[in-house]
Amino acid sequence: MDCRQPDRLLIRKEVRHLPKGRRLFIAKSYSTRKCNYRCRHCLVSAPNAHHPQLPLQDFLHIIREIAVCGINRVDITGGEPFLRSDFEEIVKELSSFNIDIGTVFTNASLLTEDVLQMLKKYHQYPAFQLSFDGLGHHDWLRGVEGAELEADKAFRLLQKHELQPNMEKSKAGVTNGTVLLS
Ligand code: SF4
Repeated sequence: MDCRQPDRLLIRKEVRHLPKGRRLFIAKSYSTRKCNYRCRHCLVSAPNAHHPQLPLQDFLHIIREIAVCGINRVDITGGEPFLRSDFEEIVKELSSFNIDIGTVFTNASLLTEDVLQMLKKYHQYPAFQLSFDGLGHHDWLRGVEGAELEADKAFRLLQKHELQPNMEKSKAGVTNGTVLLS
């Protein structure tokens, strides 16, 4: 398949208009717009987005297309990516084309031991960008009681796997944690 003539419905037009000789290596996927949180600042208006998520078959089709285009890394965001019941199918397909998951952006509420094990099974070792907005503020900003506890649990889980959070402040003044899974 010629990457300059991909399925016009599924590949964004920017891919088709890259300057000659330029290639894309990284793609970012809004895997779903569904979310179990109700953050005050939400960019995608989750959980009330009009187009919640791509059907799995379309997602797999896109993975095959970007593989042909030479993309070797995909960052996955949402919504909350781990809400997809077919998340493992996506991981499996990416791995079958040797495409690495670079970063998963997650609100941390569904980050479990099982998820970490599943990713390892497919030799995927992404970084995790976890949402955390500060002690005593997190629940208010995320719109869910107990969100701070969930974030704490996720950090402890990653620490159990000897993963050190790398904290940084965003422009909005909120704090996000990046954790490398190795
Ligand atoms: S966790 Fe992310 S996707 Fe979910 S409501 Fe908050 S900002 Fe939106």
